[in-house]
Amino acid sequence: MTLEEKKKRVREALKRLRKAYPVTGPFVEWSNPLELVVGTALSAQCTDERVNIVTRELFKKYRSAKDYADADQGVLEKEIYSTGFYRNKAKNLRGMGRVLVEEFGGKVPETLDGLLKLPGISNKTAYIVLAKAFGKMEGLAVDTHVFRLAPRLGWSTAKTPERMSRELGELFPKGDYLDVNEYLITHGRAVCSPRSPKCGECVLADICPSAGKIL
Ligand code: SF4
Repeated sequence: MTLEEKKKRVREALKRLRKAYPVTGPFVEWSNPLELVVGTALSAQCTDERVNIVTRELFKKYRSAKDYADADQGVLEKEIYSTGFYRNKAKNLRGMGRVLVEEFGGKVPETLDGLLKLPGISNKTAYIVLAKAFGKMEGLAVDTHVFRLAPRLGWSTAKTPERMSRELGELFPKGDYLDVNEYLITHGRAVCSPRSPKCGECVLADICPSAGKIL
């Protein structure tokens, strides 16, 4: 298959997914860039639903970067306990608050380099924050769902999220980056589960090389 044929196929798939899922998600809830960064950091190894339960309370108390910088480690651990990996996450949130206060005047930076200076923020998280909070498509975010589905769909054979992000980024226009991430997550949760994908109900079955082949 030529690159052009592949581009046509992946874009057709995204078109179908957009039609199949009028609503995507659920994703982490936020109302400002700081909340998005915190929610996305907490969502590592945790469901977005669980994060949202925790952040509904957390965001009432922690309203600024300084609030996180000044947070007590033990108290914050208790507050985010149910999201898992709470010690590390609490440490990272406090560190993030400090870096935001000391280097960015308390504001979430609008650049990839700036975001990557925050403890616990990966490329994936940074791409999501840039796209959602600032409308900047710097890269295609590859999370566990994207990393699992893209090979099944024949979109990528990359062995690392970073490489896959580059490969998928070449197949889609930048304006589609966020949708690719969100629709694959939604499709992965709804139909294309890890062990028993419902290929019989899948809108991509006729263009998916794995259709009916996953036992
Ligand atoms: S056809 Fe099956 S394996 Fe392919 S995307 Fe759909 S559910 Fe997943």
